[in-house]
Amino acid sequence: MEAEHDVLVVGAGCAGMRAAIEAHDASADVALISKIHPVRSHSGAAEGGINAALGNASEDDPEKHAFDTVKGSDYLGDQDAIEILCTEAPDDVYRLEHWGAVFSRTEDGRIAQRPFGAAGEPRTAYAADITGHVLVHVLYEQVMKRDLKVYDEFFVWKLVENEGRCQGVIAWNLLDGGLATIGAKTVILATGGAGRLYSGTTNAYACTGDGMAQALQLGVALEDMEMMQFHPTTLAPTGVLITEGTRGEGAFLLNSEGKRFLERYAPNAMELASRDVISRAEQTEIDEGRGVDGNVLLDMRHLGAEKILERLHGTRELSMVFAGIDPIHEPIPVRPGAHYHMGGVDTDVWGRTSLEGLYAAGECACVSVHGANRLGGNALMETITYGKRAGAHAADWALTHTTVEVPESVETDAERELAQLLDRSDGERPWSIRNELAETMHENFGVFRREEQMRRQGAIVDELRERYARVIVEDKGQVFNNDLTQALELGFLLELAACMIVAGLERKESRGAHARPYDFPDRDDENFMRHTLVRWVDGAPKLGWRPVTVTKWQPMERTY
Ligand SMILES: Cc1cc2nc3c(=O)[nH]c(=O)nc-3n(C[C@H](O)[C@H](O)[C@H](O)COP(=O)(O)OP(=O)(O)OC[C@H]3O[C@@H](n4cnc5c(N)ncnc54)[C@H](O)[C@@H]3O)c2cc1C
Repeated sequence: MEAEHDVLVVGAGCAGMRAAIEAHDASADVALISKIHPVRSHSGAAEGGINAALGNASEDDPEKHAFDTVKGSDYLGDQDAIEILCTEAPDDVYRLEHWGAVFSRTEDGRIAQRPFGAAGEPRTAYAADITGHVLVHVLYEQVMKRDLKVYDEFFVWKLVENEGRCQGVIAWNLLDGGLATIGAKTVILATGGAGRLYSGTTNAYACTGDGMAQALQLGVALEDMEMMQFHPTTLAPTGVLITEGTRGEGAFLLNSEGKRFLERYAPNAMELASRDVISRAEQTEIDEGRGVDGNVLLDMRHLGAEKILERLHGTRELSMVFAGIDPIHEPIPVRPGAHYHMGGVDTDVWGRTSLEGLYAAGECACVSVHGANRLGGNALMETITYGKRAGAHAADWALTHTTVEVPESVETDAERELAQLLDRSDGERPWSIRNELAETMHENFGVFRREEQMRRQGAIVDELRERYARVIVEDKGQVFNNDLTQALELGFLLELAACMIVAGLERKESRGAHARPYDFPDRDDENFMRHTLVRWVDGAPKLGWRPVTVTKWQPMERTY
């Protein structure tokens, strides 16, 4: 064993760093491990902001925030977890501010808050349109200030289970090559999302769902995996995100007739309806021939140059660099793209999984605060509040339990498995399987879902998994072997896709991101106020269910 810690946090985005800070402050010996440098984690791409009922722009309170989140989740969110998030959010945001987060300000110097989709009040605190960038840097400063050990550029391949608890990880050292075993009394997964399951996505290449698949392999359930959110404004043709903050500032969505088509779908909230509603509206316009080259248009011109330059500066730059269009003068082409996984590793409100010693927080986890549809601004808040809670609990557990034991056979088995992969010289390279997976998931498990397409996708994934069994890694080198890590990531993605399809087929209703307008167009509260829970049994996904936790809010019709 290379090293041993009380708490090992896998992933150094907002959730991982916040968890590590909390665990350290509770006196645990903590380390972070990340396949990329912490500040390059995908949290840094978050643009629009973070939700907390600070009440700086209107009369707001945590209960209103909780209700909006419950309704936004299409009543699939667990209401106890949502209440915790919304109650703890204001203090957690002020803590970030005290650590140095430079939030944009109101005239009188308080943290400014902008309206976001499906929020009853302007609740989203922001740092212009680079909120995530600001937060990862502030958190990294706190990590450095505490002198926490960071294993940076280590690719975690497997979790170690011994005597019924998680006791560390096996990782590939990206810089020097070779496997390293790092022991820990508790391990917190904070490995982010899996948007790379899709060809059109806002997610970085690193978002391959590694932690979810690793937990699955140890018998831990993944919850609500069918719930992949499609964001309505991803820039064509690249899929780069155009923040909801643009619509919060007043941008319009137009079809080929120049009409604000949301009048037909969400006449009250219009462009500020929830993401699932707007993505479906856009896809319907495109499918019915009122799109513009497979897109709709996002029009900011009426906001004026001054506002765009001050508040949406980064968005303008993205539009100019990636689409060659200056939004001050022209509308930009946008379409729905895979953005956020509401599903993930099943945890309780302290980030605990069913395996002792293993925790999860952030996008890789499902606690579940987002249910079937996440509200913009709630993901960053979840990383902070639930990262903090997981860090606190993991430290507490670690400090009251003493031993870490990783049998030698765990390491030798892993060495043998890796050697088998690297020694294989006859087979298929990972990229073609990865591309086929992403393209077919987009086509068959996208904004609208049909039974027959989902079944077809199930068969495609089975076939891709067979091909994956013969995958070859051509690069046999030790230093930055992306060929190897991409092959390992592909294995994770294929298992997650299989879980999503099993869950999607059996959720025979339309709720939030899971829209089946052709066979089950309505929400069915009688039969499906339940979470899907997929476990991996004998090499295949096996589906179970658990009822949603309801505290105060009975399901109602969801209109905007
Ligand atoms: C473009 C974009 C804009 C967004 N804007 C907003 C917004 O304005 N507001 C909001 O609330 N939400 C937003 N979101 C969502 C939100 O940013 C993410 O859900 C959140 O930041 C995820 O944080 P995380 O800490 O869980 O994961 P990440 O920040 O993705 O970090 C994952 C970490 O895990 C590490 N990792 C992964 N696999 C391994 C492995 N095998 N071994 C070692 N390390 C590993 C990575 O290196 C990384 O450090 C946005 C998302 C996108 C894609």
